[in-house]
Amino acid sequence: MSGTNPEESGAAVPATNWAGNITFHAARRERPEDLAALQALVAGSSRVRALGTGHSFSGVADTDGLLVSLAGLPRTARVDADQRTVTIGGQWTYGELAMELDRAGLALPNTGSLPHISVAGACATGTHGSGTHNQALAASVRGVTIVTATGDAVRRERGHPDFDGAVLALGRLGIAVEMTLDVVPTFDLAQTVVEQVPAARVESALADILAAAYSVSVFTTWGLDRLDDIWVKQLVGAEPLAELWGGRVAQEARHPVAGMPPENTTQQLGVPGPWHERLPHFRLEFMPSAGDELQSEYLVPAARATAAWRALDGIREVLHPLLHVSELRAVAPDPMWLSLTGGQPCVAFHFTWKTVPGVADGVAAVEAQLSGHDARPHWGKVFSTPPRELARLYPRLPDFRRLVHDLDPGATFGQDLVDTWLGLA
Ligand SMILES: Cc1cc2nc3c(=O)[nH]c(=O)nc-3n(C[C@H](O)[C@H](O)[C@H](O)COP(=O)(O)OP(=O)(O)OC[C@H]3O[C@@H](n4cnc5c(N)ncnc54)[C@H](O)[C@@H]3O)c2cc1C
Repeated sequence: MSGTNPEESGAAVPATNWAGNITFHAARRERPEDLAALQALVAGSSRVRALGTGHSFSGVADTDGLLVSLAGLPRTARVDADQRTVTIGGQWTYGELAMELDRAGLALPNTGSLPHISVAGACATGTHGSGTHNQALAASVRGVTIVTATGDAVRRERGHPDFDGAVLALGRLGIAVEMTLDVVPTFDLAQTVVEQVPAARVESALADILAAAYSVSVFTTWGLDRLDDIWVKQLVGAEPLAELWGGRVAQEARHPVAGMPPENTTQQLGVPGPWHERLPHFRLEFMPSAGDELQSEYLVPAARATAAWRALDGIREVLHPLLHVSELRAVAPDPMWLSLTGGQPCVAFHFTWKTVPGVADGVAAVEAQLSGHDARPHWGKVFSTPPRELARLYPRLPDFRRLVHDLDPGATFGQDLVDTWLGLA
């Protein structure tokens, strides 16, 4: 097929996800080298899914048909400084995009904890960073071009009645080959770790802590020492922190996971630097997080966050032995139909699990404690929330199903797990 190399293309598409807990069931793997080849592959297949950088822990990217990587497509970017937009191909990672924007004196308002992931894959699952004023990454997308089941390209711009279903779509509508994102003028931040904060202060001041700076993360192991760390990312020129919540400023660089090298993390100790070298916790050149891990995450409405904290506080003995670390972040609302925020300010409760027996029990225990708190699970992480509960949490699911039937009536981008979640099975 024009633009593909069958000898090499399959081998260039990973057989597992980053964590290694999912082996893809794909009958074929392809890495087309131009858009026409991608369109022909899709048009000629009855089952297709796109793979980004494979950093999801759930089986969201899996398929029993053709798994396509966009990594071989030509890399193009168009920066429009007047309109404050950038248009990129569906294979770009945040790390690559940051370099492109930096050259133009531009920035994204926020990032996830790592720059290694693809923009399309991250937006497709609701990936977010932290900040009471910072929305999930998909909210920066103002236009997306999707190769649909026929192989035709469809463009959806913000303002189109279906736009809020078209970006955070779990890859279920087709393959995003081009995305236009809003950008902002570049800005600098300084990152400080406040350590040894008593858990009682985190509980009593959670909302104030998460609102104390541009982006704040609370790291806890739910340990019996009941001492937590707070990573504060402040705009340069902002007021100094009004308080340290009973903790102290770390005098050395830290890694969120005990025993992992601080060199893997972005610069701390209050040293100012550009947005893309402070907002992610992890540096592009190094392995992010612990590596040997699974992740789960649940977003609860901010008004219920303290109650959710108390509920989890009650199972410290269960959580602590299973965890590398847990992270709390604030996420501002967005209107996407499958948004993890449900359109309201949220606090995200994240869990980086060790790969030890009992993690499934830990996930079940977290879900039991968070039941009654409208906890929406991260689509890209491990969860077992039943479809009936997902249907309750996502009132726009009928609209999304209608969009799927419009764009993909033959279920070319269908997949058992995703279709079960979405009530499409
Ligand atoms: C170490 C680590 C840290 C993380 N930190 C965060 C964090 O801070 N915040 C957070 O919210 N999440 C975080 N995550 C989760 C991660 O952001 C999501 O799993 C994200 O989806 C990964 O992007 P990806 O490119 O690897 O997507 P993949 O896992 O490859 O794919 C995810 C989904 O996107 C679809 N997709 C991929 N490319 C396209 C395309 N071009 N068109 C249409 N659909 C497409 C796939 O079909 C699949 O459904 C982290 C994960 C890891 C491993």
